[in-house]
Amino acid sequence: AVKDQGRNGYSFFHSDMEESSLERILMENELRKAIELEQFHLDYQPKMDLSTGRLIGMEALVRWDHPELGRIAPNKFIPVAEDTGMIIPLGEWVLRRGCEQAIEWQQQGYSQLKLSVNLSVRQFYQPNLLDKIKEILKDTGLRPQWLELEVTESVFAVLDDAAAILQEMRDLGIHISVDDFGTGYSSFSYIKHLPIDTLKIDASFIRDIHQNKESQAIVKAILSIAQTLNLNVIAEGVETSEQLTILSEDGCSQGQGFLFSQPLSSQDFEQYLKNSFQFALHR
Ligand code: C2E
Ligand code: MG
Ligand code: MG
Ligand code: MG
Repeated sequence: AVKDQGRNGYSFFHSDMEESSLERILMENELRKAIELEQFHLDYQPKMDLSTGRLIGMEALVRWDHPELGRIAPNKFIPVAEDTGMIIPLGEWVLRRGCEQAIEWQQQGYSQLKLSVNLSVRQFYQPNLLDKIKEILKDTGLRPQWLELEVTESVFAVLDDAAAILQEMRDLGIHISVDDFGTGYSSFSYIKHLPIDTLKIDASFIRDIHQNKESQAIVKAILSIAQTLNLNVIAEGVETSEQLTILSEDGCSQGQGFLFSQPLSSQDFEQYLKNSFQFALHR
């Protein structure tokens, strides 16, 4: 049930990634080794409730620290992992590691945090994706209501049965969030029947929301549609208090971005948890 693979570019390099084929082969080899050697770790970026200022969860973001090349950005290696199919084992590792970590924090008493994990479109081609997710939840003991999967709009353009698969995930109790919302398929009407819980407004609309009337209008339109459809909304890439003020005024209830925190290593996130918990006690 794969539609138009390639024509709209999902299986190929993005145009800003026109690397030489040698570089490409090197990257593939290094990535293959990195997966075997588990050269990855996860950072976690806080997600905030804007009305209470409270932490509601964290997005797991994969990090690759190559022993010689240093840190390689996900925007560079995720597309290669997608093209080569390596995103399947990598994505599985990310989900397992994230769930293990979430359970660890729950056991430390931080029991109300939702873990968000990004899922590539390519992972939906995997026939046993649902079984894998169930297996990981069972192995780690994370209850599905504490897991949110972030998918991009492209999943609905590329896969006929995306909605059915996402519905099955939701039936398990997992939350579904549409990442980078507003940049992809772009017809708002299509979300009406989709099995989703949250719209994650793309950072590009937040970036200039305080200067650009069009961006603010788009954000308002997303908020209004979300309200009508009873969907949750989170703004990504919130960097300034100016942006936060507008978002709050416009009724956006959740946010994520450098204003609150950069993505943090698990150690730093744990410290962040301790600090915000103490802060809450003394309030
Ligand atoms: P995304 O899922 O939309 O994640 C948001 C990206 O924006 C992250 O970049 C995050 O570090 C960055 N970010 C967060 N707040 C701000 C901000 O206030 N300002 C700015 N300028 N940036 C902010 P990162 O970690 O480099 O990831 C880039 C993309 O790579 C992600 O976009 C996601 O599509 C993909 N990715 C990352 N980790 C994974 C993963 O484990 N699996 C999959 N399939 N994709 C991943
Ligand atoms: Mg995301
Ligand atoms: Mg995003
Ligand atoms: Mg993005």
